Amino acid sequence: MTHMLYPTTNLTATEQLVITHGEGVYVYDNQGRQYLEGMSGLWCTALGYGNEEVVETAARQMRTLSYSHLFGGKTHPAAMELADKLSAMVPMADARVFLGNSGSDANDTQVKLLRYYFNAIGKPEKYKIISRERAYHGVTVAAASLTGLAPNHTHFSLPFDALGVLRTGAPHFYRDGLPGETEEQFANRRADELEALILAEGPETIAAFIAEPISGAGGVIVPPAGYFEKVQALLRKYDILMWDDEVICGFGRTGADFGATSLGIQPQLMSLAKALSSAYMPVSAALITGDMYDVMVEPSAQVGIFGHGYTYGGHPVACAVASKVLEIYQREQLFERARVMGLYMQQKLQAFADHPLVGEVRGMGMIAALELVANKQTRQAFNGNAVGAYCQLRCQEHGLIVRAMGGNSVALCPPLVISEAQVDELVEKLGRALDETLAHVI
Ligand code: PLP
Repeated sequence: MTHMLYPTTNLTATEQLVITHGEGVYVYDNQGRQYLEGMSGLWCTALGYGNEEVVETAARQMRTLSYSHLFGGKTHPAAMELADKLSAMVPMADARVFLGNSGSDANDTQVKLLRYYFNAIGKPEKYKIISRERAYHGVTVAAASLTGLAPNHTHFSLPFDALGVLRTGAPHFYRDGLPGETEEQFANRRADELEALILAEGPETIAAFIAEPISGAGGVIVPPAGYFEKVQALLRKYDILMWDDEVICGFGRTGADFGATSLGIQPQLMSLAKALSSAYMPVSAALITGDMYDVMVEPSAQVGIFGHGYTYGGHPVACAVASKVLEIYQREQLFERARVMGLYMQQKLQAFADHPLVGEVRGMGMIAALELVANKQTRQAFNGNAVGAYCQLRCQEHGLIVRAMGGNSVALCPPLVISEAQVDELVEKLGRALDETLAHVI
């Protein structure tokens, strides 16, 4: 018994896994048991554990300058280097980079940047944000309001009404497609619904549309072909900004530099975290276009400051570590490796499409999910989420960490450095757990 208040946990639960160390793609518990980290922690440890080059970089930066901030005219080399690297990498024009500590705070920052920007151009009424069902954008008050999952709202009195969050449907064909509907018809229907929402609210009141290229915590939802093309055509038509939440998809996860590249997204705002530092240090970035930044300069001069910033935003150790991680991604060509290994992993997982419990195998690159269903023919879901949780536990028994989410989907998101033999190990252990889960439910 400790005095922890655990995050995102059933507070009545007593069973806990005490993870004590990690090496490569494996973590170990306090009994010395080894687990293949099939979820990269919380979708974040892309480089795996114990990378000495990263460790050395952190130690060196701590010795050189353990802390400095970015307020009121001060800066430091590690933050400037990281911001310039990110601006050069992203598919955005002359991106400006605001550094934070988590995906949630990056998204909260974006809400404020949007308000600042539209106030600056004389459109204060243009503040609403369209988000999607089953989206996950974090848990701070604004980010949780953008999130579209009930457990992040219930008992917290969220979403926060004053934020003006509007909700549109998730692009999940397997779950939300109508009988007889094709994928293309489904994508058209989602676009029509979006247009109807924009017109009902008034485009002049809507600042941005936020989306994860592939929704992670909602159950790894890969949109149908053409979905983002249709959505972005509407955003351009109604002068609404595209806000791309790359907190999971960024840095190789989808088999390219960003999910935007894989899914054809042209963002005006991007949120980055997780694999930005491969989770060796907490760091995030909220990026906006140079055009947006330019009009924010004068209003900040009127006030005397741009009044937003965190004590730990742009922390020198976090920035130095992130820059090193980006250098390693490039040097080791890890995004290309993720594409190739991703094809291998997705192809191996397709073998489960015939499993009696598996309704859908979905994914792209190094992120995937199996949706467990009560009836394969009718796609009938299980009540509650106990079946996914059971499968997750069976995997754990076999030394594999996966995560059940989005009802009864089992998510996979291994470190990008995983080898072919380790993918085979993952698939073999998952297969055993699936068979045991089947035996348990029948
Ligand atoms: N956005 C997305 C897409 C995420 O998946 C997450 C976390 O899983 C967040 C934002 C929030 O990031 P954090 O947990 O670092 O606050």
